[in-house]
Amino acid sequence: MFHAALFTLYPEMFPGPLGASLSGDALRRQLWALETINIREYGLGKHRAVDDAPAGGGPGMVLRADVVAASLDAGLRPDDARPRLLMSPRGKPLTQTRVRELSAGPGVAIVCGRFEGVDERLIETRGLEEVSIGDYVLSGGEIAAMVLLDACVRLIPGVMGKLESGSDESFESGLLEYPQYTRPRAFEGREIPAVLLSGDHTKIAKWRNDEALRLTRGRRPDLLTERGLK
Ligand code: SAM
Repeated sequence: MFHAALFTLYPEMFPGPLGASLSGDALRRQLWALETINIREYGLGKHRAVDDAPAGGGPGMVLRADVVAASLDAGLRPDDARPRLLMSPRGKPLTQTRVRELSAGPGVAIVCGRFEGVDERLIETRGLEEVSIGDYVLSGGEIAAMVLLDACVRLIPGVMGKLESGSDESFESGLLEYPQYTRPRAFEGREIPAVLLSGDHTKIAKWRNDEALRLTRGRRPDLLTERGLK
């Protein structure tokens, strides 16, 4: 079973949105499991300090390597095979390919950063893989971890129904998804494209592929370059 371990200063944020809809239903059906480890419990002194001023000066605070390492060492057995991730804006951008790999594995252990981030030595000594969910800065890694988990969990066998298999979706083919329509046939003067109502599945597949290419070319030409399709 896919088992997620979250190392966080805010365990109360979980499962949060992951407890609703598809992922929440799957959690209750035990198709995946989620555990939180409160980094604060490994804090130092009476006040359970977890952070300190950045060496060399500068604004903010940095999560201490010794404190977060103690939480990781207590929460994970040495033979734990799960990838150890650190949510980080300077990490490798998360892709559907990486999501697919992760969701097919035993789960993930995720450190959620806060403040100015974590001491570099934690990343080095615990072999953390830095993962970014986009080129912007959040106030903490928890929401980023939820994004990653939501993307992974929906791909676990049995989580999505057969009808929503996900194989047609954006990025799965390397392209953005074609436009979707449903009833009513006309909405505020706009008709569903006739080909989609024709019943001709060859023509429908061609239309969808053409539209996927058109949208990808307009919005994400980088995806076409990656596939040598430009
Ligand atoms: N000082 C850091 C920097 O400039 O790279 C930003 C720290 S940010 C305020 C606090 C935490 O939020 C980070 O340690 C990370 O865990 C999380 N975070 C922020 N933006 C993120 C992103 N785009 N992807 C993944 N995690 C992010």
